[in-house]
Amino acid sequence: RHWGVTPPLGFAVGAVRHPDRPAVIDERGALSYAELEQRTSRLANGLRRRVTPGTRIGVLCRNHHGPVETVLAAAKLGVDVVLLNTGLSGRQVADVIAEQQVSVLVLDAEFRAQLPELPTEVDQVLAWTDGTTRHDTLEHLIATSSPRRPTRPRRHARMIVLTSGTTGTPKGARRPDPPSLSPAASVLSRIPLDSGERMLISAPLFHTWGLAAFQLAAVLGATLVLRRKFDPEEALACVQRHRCTAMFAVPVMLQRILDLPEEVRARYDHSSLRIVASSGSALPADLATRFQRTFGPVLHNLYGSTEVSWVSIATPQDLRAAPGTAGRPPRGTRVRILAEDGSPVERGETGRIFAGNAMLFDGYTNGGRREVRDGLMSTGDLGRIDAAGRLFVVGREDDMIVSGGENVYPKETEDAIARLPEVAEVAVIGVDDQDFGQRLAAFVVLRPGQELDAEQVRDRVRDQLPKFALPRHVVFLDELPRNATGKVVPRELRERLAT
Ligand code: ATP
Repeated sequence: RHWGVTPPLGFAVGAVRHPDRPAVIDERGALSYAELEQRTSRLANGLRRRVTPGTRIGVLCRNHHGPVETVLAAAKLGVDVVLLNTGLSGRQVADVIAEQQVSVLVLDAEFRAQLPELPTEVDQVLAWTDGTTRHDTLEHLIATSSPRRPTRPRRHARMIVLTSGTTGTPKGARRPDPPSLSPAASVLSRIPLDSGERMLISAPLFHTWGLAAFQLAAVLGATLVLRRKFDPEEALACVQRHRCTAMFAVPVMLQRILDLPEEVRARYDHSSLRIVASSGSALPADLATRFQRTFGPVLHNLYGSTEVSWVSIATPQDLRAAPGTAGRPPRGTRVRILAEDGSPVERGETGRIFAGNAMLFDGYTNGGRREVRDGLMSTGDLGRIDAAGRLFVVGREDDMIVSGGENVYPKETEDAIARLPEVAEVAVIGVDDQDFGQRLAAFVVLRPGQELDAEQVRDRVRDQLPKFALPRHVVFLDELPRNATGKVVPRELRERLAT
């Protein structure tokens, strides 16, 4: 997906309006808006002789000042940036680099060793280090280049972000120019973020969700608080130390914060936190309820995708009234639930979720498209809208199975098992079955010290589910396999079942 130049503009305006306000705080310390502006000009000047207007810079970085500065410097040069997922294998990164025609690769030094031989198009690899090695690093370029702001480039730079690859290799998505403020405006229509927020962005910056938070920060003149790796206790320590007012995370991170022992959580003052925003994957109802009980009415659930952008947003009030909801469409977005034949379903019925807004993507870089009906694009998800107008995402279309002729939604079984107090985490997928065509397999992680066997799991959810939705297989795991955006990877679950 291409994102426009709003972050660079926002940070440049911030450098004039509030030069001393911290723009980025990470393990290395704080950079003010003025410092960020100067460092990104230096970096742009240093990079200038290494790029041409057609160059694409690949960025393979964890969350810290480095990727932020690279994106801003590239914008000053009018050069496109492809954000690469740090959770991919070296081989997958090499494939994406080749497909996206990346010729300059900016990475964290730690990733250099794990990359296989790079495609021949890549003629330069530049590293951000942790400050221990000086030579050949981007810091060196910054230290030795002119701080003069480069003249305005002839073309808008774009950021290309990939889907998270839950269903296969990540796909590049194309967006039409010109860039727009619509994604930020639609979030702000449902979430009361203010100017000058201190935003802890735990979601990875290379994914649509982290990038959306980055764009919001630019619009609001906020302070970005970044950490290279997510650790639940460190996140709370960060909130306390920097008086963070907002946190942007994926659900599994919130889960891990709640899983901390009570006495550890109690060590940190999180009273500054007004807004916690969760997106990237489904927010389990039970997690929403427990989170609000501990942290108060601060939680928002944003549902969207790389392709369709924001479809709906749930406020703390929505989540209190209906903990499993994905909320209501933000300003400028229409949502319809359609049956297989394209006709609207009755209120409350499950169907395919279609959404329309000014942010729809323009096709995948490999040429693929998404189905469009009356200006509304398929999200690839199934859902229903309740009598109060709240959307519930029932799962991905691809996840639905037909078992003995019945449509079965794995997420309903997943939700029922997740409610068992012994269960820490669960994922349910469809697998081939000789008798029924397909059946469900549940992968369960128990809370420490708890015991359950497969038959007990089935017994305990039997009265909540139709017979065909009971899992045929129940497999106990120590943890669920997840990708860098916190989503469970079905392919790896299938492999576990086979072993
Ligand atoms: P790929 O298309 O490569 O398989 P992906 O679909 O995971 O990857 P993303 O654009 O990162 O790519 O994810 C969007 C999808 O994530 C949505 O279509 C939906 O299935 C799920 N999702 C995101 N946020 C939520 C949410 N709040 N509630 C429920 N599902 C969500």
